[in-house]
Amino acid sequence: MAENYPDAGTSLVFETPFELLVAAILSAQCTDKQVNRITDRLFKKYNKPQDFARLTPEELEQEIKSCGLYRNKSRFIIESAREIIKSHGGCVPMTRSELEALPGVGRKTAGVIIGVAYGGSALPVDTHVFRVARRLGLSAAREPAKVEEDLAACVPSGERMPFHHRLIFHGRAICLARKPACHKCSLKEYCSFYQSGSELY
Ligand code: SF4
Repeated sequence: MAENYPDAGTSLVFETPFELLVAAILSAQCTDKQVNRITDRLFKKYNKPQDFARLTPEELEQEIKSCGLYRNKSRFIIESAREIIKSHGGCVPMTRSELEALPGVGRKTAGVIIGVAYGGSALPVDTHVFRVARRLGLSAAREPAKVEEDLAACVPSGERMPFHHRLIFHGRAICLARKPACHKCSLKEYCSFYQSGSELY
């Protein structure tokens, strides 16, 4: 995986932990490409918690309405910005419990902030990680949190974020949701899904 995806990393464009938080909230059910298009414009106007805290949900909706679930996302971003100012001195917190207490921030988003913004150890399970890990046979769990636990048990702490990014790259390039390209996959000899003969569907 490391040889195949030497440049695997986040596709979201950001400069500060807070910008990453906004981008990560926007990325739910939206491609990173589309998020980057939105934030490219958005962050030129607003990029600090104080900027967002002053907005009404309706004002922010106008800026982000080209991504799905924009009404909820607008509310989450503004409420998170206000909470970060009120409880964390204007800085995005670093611990999982504090991050998950922010509106719109679940386990996966908290993991992204910990791993990408702060260089900590985390293994966020998004749709690609969930699918590829299960196909490879690294977990049989049906809950993302349990898949994360199974992966964490076999991936050393310092390797978890790189592994997360490589699984995402693999899921986007080869192990596609509808029709995985098993014939050109370098992992097939290790893959439960392939070894079971399921690659033919
Ligand atoms: S062999 Fe097929 S199912 Fe297994 S990881 Fe590769 S593309 Fe995915």
